[in-house]
Amino acid sequence: MTDRYGLIGHPVAHSISPAIHALFAEQTGQDMTYSLLPAPPDGFRAAVADFVGAGGRGVNVTLPFKEEALRLADEAGPHAAAAGAANTLVFRDDRTIYAANTDGVGLARDLAALGLPVAGRELLIVGAGGASRGIVRPLLEAGARLAVANRTRARAEALVRELGASDALRCVPLDALADARFDGVINATSASLADATPALPDALCAHLAWGYDLVHGRGKPTAFVEWLRARGVSAAHDGAGMLLEQAAESFYLWRGARPDVGAARAWLAAQKW
Ligand code: NAP
Repeated sequence: MTDRYGLIGHPVAHSISPAIHALFAEQTGQDMTYSLLPAPPDGFRAAVADFVGAGGRGVNVTLPFKEEALRLADEAGPHAAAAGAANTLVFRDDRTIYAANTDGVGLARDLAALGLPVAGRELLIVGAGGASRGIVRPLLEAGARLAVANRTRARAEALVRELGASDALRCVPLDALADARFDGVINATSASLADATPALPDALCAHLAWGYDLVHGRGKPTAFVEWLRARGVSAAHDGAGMLLEQAAESFYLWRGARPDVGAARAWLAAQKW
């Protein structure tokens, strides 16, 4: 019987995850489908129950349900537990649910694939939402030293407090960035979705070796990538590779097979949006 997977969120219509997982299934010879599973804001648990009842084997979870997904699980992987949010659920044969967060691993793998150094580097993360929570621990594990800044400062402070302030993880106010020196910057805000950029000083770019926007630009540079390039940061990338890498890790958790992400990168770059 064909195994069923999908993406639960509100909204999900914009997602290219079905195309990505169809490609992975073809690459690895897996008999499975992956569909969009839109749910109303108060309908996450019902959507999961319906999908499990219809034979669903696993889901990806996106806004606004990532925290609820973790609460629903019987067991959580270390990155989901640390982030307080899950983007992947595995519905096991014994009817228990396993939760994982593959966003951070996806980002760390993409930074490595792009040749952007992380170990021993000072990195600035802008944003303190769910995505930011998901990437902190994997980046610390990769040896980075992190500062987190956010428009709503209290959220950045809460994130650092909850994930454990240390020599390698601290909070920094946005208005203190003009004099700060970082090797890399990661935009974990959703600003690019509205063609906006977070309010960062131009001086930040003077010492940056690279910059990364979690948002996928769908074939054109995001507002943040353009902002970086205009200030001389030529190693500026969007979140396309992260999207593929986090999907590949979810796929592996479900199927035990590793897709060819290199081939998927070429496929994604050739898409007409
Ligand atoms: P979220 O929980 O809604 O958080 C949004 C964050 O963006 C908050 O820190 C918010 O600041 C900040 N923000 C929004 N607009 C801003 C603006 N104009 N200026 C400054 N800050 C602004 O969202 P999320 O789940 O963390 O996701 C963030 C982004 O990551 C999304 O766009 C998503 O597409 C992307 N993402 C990509 C991947 C991938 O695989 N490539 C995976 C996960 C997420 P306040 O706290 O002040 O409101």
